[in-house]
Amino acid sequence: MPSILNADLHCHSVVSDGTLTPEALAERAAGNGVELWALTDHDEIGGQHRARAAAHAQGMKYLTGAEVSVTFAGESVHIVGLGFDADAAALRQGLLATRSGREARAREMSDGLTRVGIEGAYEGALKFVGNPELISRTHFARFLVESGVCKDTYEVFRKYLTEGKPGYVPHRWATLRDAVRWITEAGGIAVVAHPGRYRFTANEEYALFSEFKLHGGRAIEVVTGSHTPAEYVEYADKALEFGFAASRGSDFHSPGESHTDLGKLPWLPGALTPVWELLEDRIQ
Ligand code: AMP
Ligand code: MN
Ligand code: MN
Ligand code: MN
Repeated sequence: MPSILNADLHCHSVVSDGTLTPEALAERAAGNGVELWALTDHDEIGGQHRARAAAHAQGMKYLTGAEVSVTFAGESVHIVGLGFDADAAALRQGLLATRSGREARAREMSDGLTRVGIEGAYEGALKFVGNPELISRTHFARFLVESGVCKDTYEVFRKYLTEGKPGYVPHRWATLRDAVRWITEAGGIAVVAHPGRYRFTANEEYALFSEFKLHGGRAIEVVTGSHTPAEYVEYADKALEFGFAASRGSDFHSPGESHTDLGKLPWLPGALTPVWELLEDRIQ
């Protein structure tokens, strides 16, 4: 696998908080020139078999994927797993446990929104949910846009769904150590998703990368739809500093919502080791 490869190793389907099926995503990815693809639904691998079959039908190579929600230093951090065995029991059990708090959290989010005069948000969000075990903030955001409360999902997050706002409910996700272990013990590579998006101090970020590495994490996302061009450079430098391989992925969720389309990203900076070089024997 060459360094310059149209790999898109981060996106979401209706199995989590995307709006397209795995098959529609595969078709869109291939149409955009993606050569190596991974579907990385939040805390869920129920779409993996369909995604792999659809990738092959579209002539793409495939890596198994998931994006695991973790709590680190009081903040939600996302760890992408790539190339794992999707039948591994500890991984499946860990993801099930990580998903299990979402239902109660969603009801509390709805209660918070009721207190500021927004009625029926739980039921409204459910209409957008493709997987009953995976109700997320994104589904609430879609409901608030549909009901005219906000003009787009970005405004919903800013006004209602982030820390300190009425629909925000703090949540305890998996530990960093567990998430990295589930992925690596299933034969995969753990990747810190969109590191530029966390509101960490330099010390907290250093702690995140150090602990992640200690537990067996081996890569970070450098070129992602969640980074600015300046952050591509910043995290390329940090990947080299920590000895991490680099990943590339759009984090595509929906044609109407996502700014970065599947496969439409700059190449990884040349000095970096692409994460797919560590995954040669896991590519299907
Ligand atoms: P949850 O897992 O329920 O906490 O939802 C997290 C998801 O919400 C992320 O994966 C994104 O899809 C979306 N999201 C989080 N923050 C924002 C934001 N500021 N603007 C738009 N979408 C966001
Ligand atoms: Mn999401
Ligand atoms: Mn994420
Ligand atoms: Mn994502």
